[in-house]
Amino acid sequence: MANIIDGKAEAEKVRLETAAAVDELRRELGVAPGLATVLVGDDPASATYVRNKRRSCEKVGIQSLHHELPASASQAQIVDLVRGLNERPDAHGILVQLPLPAAIDSRAVLNAISPDKDVDGLHPISQGRLMAGEDGLRPCTPLGVMRLLDSVGADLKGARAVVVGRSVLVGKPVALLLLERHATVTICHSRTRDLAAEIGSADVLVAAVGVPEFVKGEWIRQGSIVIDVGINRREDGRLVGDVHFESAAARAAHITPVPGGVGPMTVAMLLSNTVAAARRLESRRS
Ligand code: NDP
Repeated sequence: MANIIDGKAEAEKVRLETAAAVDELRRELGVAPGLATVLVGDDPASATYVRNKRRSCEKVGIQSLHHELPASASQAQIVDLVRGLNERPDAHGILVQLPLPAAIDSRAVLNAISPDKDVDGLHPISQGRLMAGEDGLRPCTPLGVMRLLDSVGADLKGARAVVVGRSVLVGKPVALLLLERHATVTICHSRTRDLAAEIGSADVLVAAVGVPEFVKGEWIRQGSIVIDVGINRREDGRLVGDVHFESAAARAAHITPVPGGVGPMTVAMLLSNTVAAARRLESRRS
């Protein structure tokens, strides 16, 4: 039976480190890091996500600067708000909660965020910096995946890593972060031939597919590390990942549960990114 990777405990460690980094920033530069959140419309799930992020900020000493616009807000209004936040010295990070209402071009809004404040790591410049191996803000979920791999001492150098999923949010950035750490990376997607064989070759498997319990235990290499990014609600109401947990846990050496694996890491890495952005911006100013 695999060791179950405790995402909640690791996220708590990240939060403690972040709180210490906030204190350090206050002492050294007299600055309190601030995260601006933008919520458009009245989607209850989005409102809950933003509320959780704001609460998490406050717990580690990050100031939360919250802005709400009605569902009827125009694209120009949202972009204007973002541009205003780009100019505010107390907003070191800017997070626009997705999805935006259907009439809004989300890309155009995300592109308006200053890359230096892009704590979600989704701006094309942040993505380009990741691709080029330059310093910059990386997307939160992929960072959380890497942190969980480090928490179990994964030796990534030369390891065979298979990422299932090629989204801009998860699959592609995870693959680049693994490559940066010298893994030999294969990215699989819906057109991949013989997915089971690809997965069977993986020392490290990252599943970001969005299909409940899609990856079967028998595909998984004995003794591998399995990181399940998926969050899916089954018809019976249970939350499950993209990997069939019980059968996979019988073969893997380490595996993340759902919930309680990658999920808690995402917000923790957002906090950590906000403090990193604040340090960079404030060091430039001082
Ligand atoms: P997307 O839907 O954007 O991407 C899914 C990827 O999976 C695509 O690249 C797609 O391939 C691939 N895929 C779909 N079906 C198959 C298949 N049958 N065989 C092989 N590959 C397939 O999803 P995201 O990357 O945004 O999210 C993935 C999962 O992670 C979701 O469950 C989501 O809820 C979860 N998630 C969790 C987060 C967290 O905080 N823990 C944060 C973000 C996401 P193709 O490109 O060919 O269509």
